[in-house]
Amino acid sequence: MKATEFLADLSRRFPNEPEYLQAVEEVVTSIEEVYNAHPEFERYNLIERLCIPDRIFTFRVSWVDDSGKVQNNMGYRIQHSNAIGPYKGGIRFHSSVNQSILKFLAFEQTFKNSLTTLAMGGAKGGSDFSPRGKSDMEVMRFCQAFIAELWRQIGPDTDVPAGDIGVGGREVGYMFGMYKKMAREFSGTFTGKGREFGGSLIRPEATGYGNVYFLLNMLATRGLSLEGKRVAISGSGNVATYTAEKLLQLGAKVVSMSDSNGTIYIPDGLTEEQLAYIFKLKNIYRGRIREAAEEFGFDYYDGERPWLRVKCDIAMPSATQNEIDGDDARALLAGGCIAVSEGANMPSTPEAIKEFQKARILYAPGKAANAGGVSVSGLEMAQNSQKLSWSAEEVDERLRDIMKEIHHQCELFGREDDGYINYVKGANVAGFMKVARAIMAQGIL
Ligand code: NDP
Repeated sequence: MKATEFLADLSRRFPNEPEYLQAVEEVVTSIEEVYNAHPEFERYNLIERLCIPDRIFTFRVSWVDDSGKVQNNMGYRIQHSNAIGPYKGGIRFHSSVNQSILKFLAFEQTFKNSLTTLAMGGAKGGSDFSPRGKSDMEVMRFCQAFIAELWRQIGPDTDVPAGDIGVGGREVGYMFGMYKKMAREFSGTFTGKGREFGGSLIRPEATGYGNVYFLLNMLATRGLSLEGKRVAISGSGNVATYTAEKLLQLGAKVVSMSDSNGTIYIPDGLTEEQLAYIFKLKNIYRGRIREAAEEFGFDYYDGERPWLRVKCDIAMPSATQNEIDGDDARALLAGGCIAVSEGANMPSTPEAIKEFQKARILYAPGKAANAGGVSVSGLEMAQNSQKLSWSAEEVDERLRDIMKEIHHQCELFGREDDGYINYVKGANVAGFMKVARAIMAQGIL
């Protein structure tokens, strides 16, 4: 089947999965030329085998809340592809989670993991359970019930989950504990674990730090540095806070952060003390970003994302999918934005991406720019299987090298005739070719 025919067919078969269709369309459109140049891909219907997940587990998760009431949530694990390594990808706990969102994330993960140079396939999982407002014991009971169902499908060489939205060190710890009990093995089945039980140094920081390292590589192609640049960040979770930390270390100004209720604006730039406060607020007190505005007198835009009002040189969306639409993109460009580097997965809509590329600014899609997280997860798996633990400096050094290599691959496959680097095309083509060759070599499965 030709790439374009395939897209029409996919929309007919999965009409209620808009995020999944959006992600597939972006990739298929940018690899079409390469795909059509290989007639053997069409002969063996590679496109369908690459875009439709290997399998999907869907299950009910029943658990008891603090008042003794029985609650029911949905649980999912999408095992997209293990062509180049064991299934690998995070778990998301958020009320918005559904099969379409997890299918898009597992699909993206497959190409991202291929780019990292490490041996990892693609997967994603999660639940429509939201940890926000729940007690520790409720979160623990939910995680245990989730793993009581999922544990048979995962394992150190089969499928290795990690964190994502709503799943941090606390949740990974509870899930790992339950897995260990059910499977009767202590293994590297989860990444993002606590330091004391096999977690890698720099894993919590890796996605945010990695995104800044990728940004540095992009800026270097235009002879620019980060010093004094005004950076707007969305989100105030794991990715957002470590992005901010690295930016401050490198002399940039962080002018916004946000959560699902609103945005704080800091025209002079956040200080390290203020960032430490936000980190504690979100991770220990589980509070709202509005409270940081109250504490420090920042402007607070209730119910708004940063993009329409915050003027910046660089945008680093680090909250969720489709958080920058066409209007947001035009406002960013009008405000003088010269680079967008995505910490979140698919935060820009197709219209926004078109605007960035038309304006010829530096634009890096999440699958390249946020690949540092899963890369250090891959390094955690390597340390676990060797029963070794590397120093923070060693892991950070490897992370920098991996981000540089990903940037290099994007440049190699994405440079256009006028010299502009199309990072979307570069990342998709580089990620695709490796997985495609592996699928072809392994026969029809
Ligand atoms: P966290 O749960 O730690 O933080 C998420 C942040 O985004 C919170 O501030 C949250 O606000 C906000 N947010 C979540 N959903 C929405 C929404 N629908 N609208 C507005 N704001 C929202 O998650 P992470 O930092 O781990 O993940 C952020 C993004 O980065 C996701 O897209 C994830 O897939 C991606 N990513 C994460 C990696 C990782 O290693 N953790 C690796 C690669 C990508 P609130 O506090 O109100 O919920």
